[in-house]
Amino acid sequence: MTPTDLLKSLGVTTSGDVSVRSPIDGAEIGRVGHDTPGQIDAKIAAAQEAFLAWREVPAPRRGELVRLFGEELRASKAALGRLVSLEAGKILQEGLGEVQEMIDICDFAVGLSRQLYGLTIASERPGHRMMETWHPLGPVAIISAFNFPVAVWAWNACLALVCGDSCIWKPSEKTPLTALATQALLERAIAKFGDAPKGLSSVVLGLADAGKTLAADTRIPLVSATGSTRMGRALGPVVAERFGKSLLELGGNNAMIVMPSADLELAVRAILFAAVGTAGQRCTTLRRLLVHKDVYEKLVPRVKAAYGRVTIGSSLEQGTLVGPLIDAGAFQGMEKALASARDQGGQVTGGGRALADKFPNAHYAHPAVVEMPRQAGVMLHETFAPILYVVKIDSLEEGIALQNAVPQGLSSCIFTRDMQEAERFVAAAGSDCGIANVNIGPSGAEIGGAFGGEKETGGGRESGSDSWKAYMRRQTATVNYSNALPLAQGIKFDVE
Ligand code: NAD
Repeated sequence: MTPTDLLKSLGVTTSGDVSVRSPIDGAEIGRVGHDTPGQIDAKIAAAQEAFLAWREVPAPRRGELVRLFGEELRASKAALGRLVSLEAGKILQEGLGEVQEMIDICDFAVGLSRQLYGLTIASERPGHRMMETWHPLGPVAIISAFNFPVAVWAWNACLALVCGDSCIWKPSEKTPLTALATQALLERAIAKFGDAPKGLSSVVLGLADAGKTLAADTRIPLVSATGSTRMGRALGPVVAERFGKSLLELGGNNAMIVMPSADLELAVRAILFAAVGTAGQRCTTLRRLLVHKDVYEKLVPRVKAAYGRVTIGSSLEQGTLVGPLIDAGAFQGMEKALASARDQGGQVTGGGRALADKFPNAHYAHPAVVEMPRQAGVMLHETFAPILYVVKIDSLEEGIALQNAVPQGLSSCIFTRDMQEAERFVAAAGSDCGIANVNIGPSGAEIGGAFGGEKETGGGRESGSDSWKAYMRRQTATVNYSNALPLAQGIKFDVE
């Protein structure tokens, strides 16, 4: 099936002056137009109008829209998964997995639509009732990154929709087609739903400037932005300046500690998926491997040998484990990081361009393992490519200290069969990350937990647990059903 036919099957016909190319082979797969400031303004106005109606639709009914959307996703999983692979370059298995994640969050959100619970709080005043209620918030801007072109939007949008909000989506400029296809599927669900307000969900296409416009607009109470720490550093103050709320999901620099009691077979498998999966382009990709000296010589050669057996190739070919990097800039970033690592005494295995003859207009790379004399310099930064830095540690204390000694705080894990070590890792003085796993790699989170991280990762939480609260406003209401007017704290304020 040609990309045009694939897009058509998803309800999208594209045109415009911006070419969209597949990272798999560099071929054009569609064309889009970027929104003008006037068009963005109109979409924000429509979202605001839609919000005023949607907030009054009962939450379980709002959930019905998300249920219908989940059905559309199920029906189009194969097509949308393939489009994700074509446009973002991740292997088909992961493209399909991404759509499954959207389906999962739909199911979660549907259940949630009947569970947006508030509280009843004991009042200190007689004849009074105090309660805490969650109300819809307003239009939510969702700015997304290229590497999870649709799932991250779904994490946000499905919750926002059941919470009574409208959504405006600014996808990565590198992945506009998957956004248009997803929006088309949502529109099919909206048509079946019947009476959803116009403008409830829209897509704004453009570069960073389009995101900046959304960030600065006072009609948008919440901006949920996923991307690099550089982006968050620029966007955060813009939203804060107007007292908007931002939910930031930024870069990670995730580590694994391997202790002597670890099941090394399991660890190697986890390392491989977490470090080279998605060609190292997940926010939760394993980037730092901290190995206890007692197992270093057993583990690291096995990791390197496994790297040698990884199949690099077109994401759409069966058997491929590592697809392309998103673009030339990503490849150059990897080369630069490897050069810095060498300067800092790192021993590099792997790296360099792959399949240049077969795919001259794409950028495939051999995943690299870099044994570093210590954690420093380039290891402290996120390079969005398959580079795994390895450092030897003497103790759990050293491992935890190194794990925490980077500016990012997204995901982390330990491999151990020692219960005390495992518990110490997830305790208050253990990992400082939003995600801390035991005997599981740092990537591939389930939707049921709150997802996000600390420090330069931005502090936001989305997806499961009580992340929905970010999409609503909290109201404390006290009702006096007595005939008196007692004041709180026993204050007397009577006029004689
Ligand atoms: P990016 O920062 O280049 O772009 C992300 C989005 O932000 C794009 O839509 C872009 O147009 C927009 N943008 C850029 N500058 C902006 C600004 N000043 N104001 C408003 N919008 C702006 O990121 P990318 O290269 O697409 O994605 C990779 C990065 O995203 C990595 O750092 C990765 O770790 C991170 N990421 C984080 C998570 C998470 O949940 N923590 C998930 C996926 C990706």
